[in-house]
Amino acid sequence: MRSDEVLNQSPPYLDVDLFASDQALRDAVAANGGADESAALSAFGTHWGAAEMFDLARQANENPPKLHAFDAKGFRRDAVEFHPAYHRFMAESVAAGLAASTWRADATPAPVPAQVARAARFYMAAQIETGHLCPITMTRAAVAALAAEPALVAKLMPKITARAYDARFRPWWEKTGITLGMGMTERQGGTDVRTNTTRAEPMAEGYAVTGQKWFMSAPMCDGFLVLAQAPGGLSCFLMPRFRPDGSVNALHFQRLKDKLGNRSNASSEVEFAAAFALRVGEEGRGVRTIINMVQLTRLDCAIASAGIMRMALAQALHHARYRSVFQMRLADQPLMRAVLADMALDAEAAVALVMRLARAFDLAAGDAGEAARARLLTPAVKYWVCKTAPSFIDEAMECLGGNGYVEESVLPRLYREAPVNAIWEGSGNVMCLDVLRALGHEGEAARAVLAALAGETTDLPGARASADFVARALSGEDAQAQARAAVGRLAMLAAAAALRQGSAPALAELFARTRLAERHDAMYGTSHIAPGEAGVVLERALPSA
Ligand SMILES: Cc1cc2nc3c(=O)[nH]c(=O)nc-3n(C[C@H](O)[C@H](O)[C@H](O)COP(=O)(O)OP(=O)(O)OC[C@H]3O[C@@H](n4cnc5c(N)ncnc54)[C@H](O)[C@@H]3O)c2cc1C
Repeated sequence: MRSDEVLNQSPPYLDVDLFASDQALRDAVAANGGADESAALSAFGTHWGAAEMFDLARQANENPPKLHAFDAKGFRRDAVEFHPAYHRFMAESVAAGLAASTWRADATPAPVPAQVARAARFYMAAQIETGHLCPITMTRAAVAALAAEPALVAKLMPKITARAYDARFRPWWEKTGITLGMGMTERQGGTDVRTNTTRAEPMAEGYAVTGQKWFMSAPMCDGFLVLAQAPGGLSCFLMPRFRPDGSVNALHFQRLKDKLGNRSNASSEVEFAAAFALRVGEEGRGVRTIINMVQLTRLDCAIASAGIMRMALAQALHHARYRSVFQMRLADQPLMRAVLADMALDAEAAVALVMRLARAFDLAAGDAGEAARARLLTPAVKYWVCKTAPSFIDEAMECLGGNGYVEESVLPRLYREAPVNAIWEGSGNVMCLDVLRALGHEGEAARAVLAALAGETTDLPGARASADFVARALSGEDAQAQARAAVGRLAMLAAAAALRQGSAPALAELFARTRLAERHDAMYGTSHIAPGEAGVVLERALPSA
């Protein structure tokens, strides 16, 4: 044998149609009103699954952004330089509507199935490159907060919906298209934003904002929704990178975070030195205003985590179909099949859940029941999907053995990326507390959602007992202490309901049996999945070549 001959390795997993090869996605899109989008989604999936896009993602993450705080003479620059591959992803995602397609030009919701169609694209894009999706998700979500100021949002919408990425450092009104970010987190508190110390003093035609933000991602966005203490209390503002007179606004970047993952994206520490900003919503109602944005970014966190789970699963299953150990392909070994099928079941559940949730957002404007579903389930779905992803990707990495631990395999990047979706936009405990808050504030509507889920899953194993447990645990005296168990169960109940709607009811039964009726062990490969069931699950997960 020649020393450069390669035996018993899988070919690269490249040039795939990310839509056509993903039966779970296709079913979830169809079940949630998006069947007519199939051809367009397949074109998107083919484009994003091309070898070139995998390589651009590598380049964008191997060449992280650089902060240029000052120029050679000591003048402030406050500019961040990104690799061309990052700009390419921004241009691709903006052109595909990921930053705006769920809005009409007048900032009202676009008609169904805008949320589902975008969610499918976002899920596929996340499989390839997640860092750039941070400003993409913030831009589309910001509209929900800006809607509180009709005159302002009317001026911004043509730039937001232009589907043109314009990376030039220019005032927003001179650009063909713009992106938006947000700054809430300060040193002393990210969850408890009421402790924000940044101040906003009224001035001619706006406010002067002074203070710091400890995390403010995508700092080259054209404007940021920030929270600051105004005379009337904590308020929401739009802070543009340029003042109305065209001069650079006083956003002084101190450092970029040296992050575990999410490397293609920049996350800054920033000081505002009497920076110009416009108020969004009433003074004192900052949290109420910005929470509309946060609901949408939480949805996107869950969609992105479902996407990276999908890519990890596809890589693992693809490899196992080629690699032989002890004269038998890994994908045929009963123990490996048990691991892969157990994982595939969670990946199916994750995509069914996020697409059903996107459907609830699609219908929310005209259907109070769907609005309540979106309100109650967004934190539950973010909690379960985003907290499942890290251990899921760890297991997928192990399916590739040593090769999985090596950068070129893509798995290390997915693994580093996974925890951030759980941490930002409300960490795990905060999501559980938010479910409790929804039950407290919108008790009747939220309980109706629980009843609807119980009805949708009535014949599935363990569903009735799970619905009873969720209702009991979340209303008891020790509700906070039980919240993780109950919110996780709530998300899995919703997943069983979502799977049941799709075209593979056997999967709903299997998911409910192994996750609701039986106790699911922390490790994959420990569920009671019969060999025949594993075969069905794995053939769905990735068609055999
Ligand atoms: C890469 C990255 C980018 C980011 N980009 C941005 C950005 O662009 N803009 C922005 O505003 N922020 C951003 N953040 C900040 C992020 O949103 C916060 O880190 C997050 O909200 C958590 O806030 P914290 O770090 O202050 O943690 P804390 O609020 O101190 O929370 C610490 C832990 O305590 C838990 N906890 C909090 N309250 C309770 C409670 N009552 N009971 C039980 N447990 C509780 C939390 O779940 C968490 O696990 C970013 C963070 C990261 C990592």
